[in-house]
Amino acid sequence: MPKTVAKSSKLANVCYDIRGPVLEKARQMEEEGHKIIKLNIGNLAVFGLEPPDEIVQDMIRNLSNAAGYTDSKGLFAPRKSVVHYTQEKGIRGVSVDDVYLGNGASELIAMSMNALLDDGDEVLIPSPDYPLYTAVVALSSGTPVHYLCDEQSDWLPDIADMRAKITPRTKAIVVINPNNPTGALYPESVLQEIVELAREHQLVIFADEIYDKTLYDGETHTSIASLADDVFFVTFNGLSKNYRSCGYRAGWMVVSGDKRRARDYIEGLNMLASMRLCANTPGQLAIQTALGGYQSIKDLVVPGGRLCRQRDLAHKLLTEIPGVTCVKPKAALYMFPRLDPKMYPIADDQQFAYELLAEEKVLIVQGTGFNWAQPDHFRLVFLPNTDDLTEAVGRIARFLDHYRKR
Ligand code: PLP
Repeated sequence: MPKTVAKSSKLANVCYDIRGPVLEKARQMEEEGHKIIKLNIGNLAVFGLEPPDEIVQDMIRNLSNAAGYTDSKGLFAPRKSVVHYTQEKGIRGVSVDDVYLGNGASELIAMSMNALLDDGDEVLIPSPDYPLYTAVVALSSGTPVHYLCDEQSDWLPDIADMRAKITPRTKAIVVINPNNPTGALYPESVLQEIVELAREHQLVIFADEIYDKTLYDGETHTSIASLADDVFFVTFNGLSKNYRSCGYRAGWMVVSGDKRRARDYIEGLNMLASMRLCANTPGQLAIQTALGGYQSIKDLVVPGGRLCRQRDLAHKLLTEIPGVTCVKPKAALYMFPRLDPKMYPIADDQQFAYELLAEEKVLIVQGTGFNWAQPDHFRLVFLPNTDDLTEAVGRIARFLDHYRKR
């Protein structure tokens, strides 16, 4: 009998529904000739939100000098520009040595958990979350423990819940601010409370700040790592979102705060960074141009800017649908609307997403894909232009109307 090739048991608790089975179904439908409106992924360039031209031109110019490996942590000049950026954000004591460049933040997020966790070590992760965190903690043989974010309080983290879930096995807290999937932006007072908890229990803070320039209504962003020198922080950021360059796979990670306490862990990070040799060199070279160049994201998020208009429209249209409520995002590219369970008694929200796709050719991601426990939410990306958004939300409204009359 031929032996089957089975996947590792390490994958048993790993899932990433943003590119999961419903997307597979959408692909099949596209092959059959259907046109799908995709509200499932924050991939800006495919919606005509292209990267600043100076980044593209600089990459083209640099390409012939970018064929070699670099230092494992990355080239000096882009890392130096990240140091300047951390200074601007008020993060103290960062040197070039504290900056790691990666093939997107994703690679570094995985590396950071791999280097930290032993069997059963716990990491506090928001619910809802960007599901990569839950997946990589599980893959690194850790245990993801979800703390609630409170929809009634604009999706801010529930600090009491976070505190209640700390055990002797807790190693770290993940803070995604601005948040995917909710669009929440955390005030300094909330960040201070998280810092207090980390200080009290000697926890590492992993801060994902990849949307820190995608802010609406004149909001400003505080880097949690700027709030303390005696807590150890690992901060992630990159070009994918603020610079509309997802495909260039350019991200960074900065270690800061009480680095002395984390010497051994940093040694682990250095080893993992060297094992993958280096991040793609053209992507690294884009970083300094992006950070030092014209910050065109600002033109998109101001009142009347494209992203701001799309956010306002999607929020208005969604919340006009009976039984749909939604906290208006202050930042990022997403909304996480709630479907009143009395009107929409959804038992399986993946099935709900399948049916919406099959009936109306609109692709969303179900809320449970973001480790939200109840099947009563979904995530929508407000990247399509206003005509396409109007069409898409109109189709969602029609589907929901049929759904509740079934
Ligand atoms: N972190 C968050 C919160 C995200 O939403 C995403 C992508 O959607 C990433 C990280 C991945 O970023 P990158 O493209 O730099 O790997």
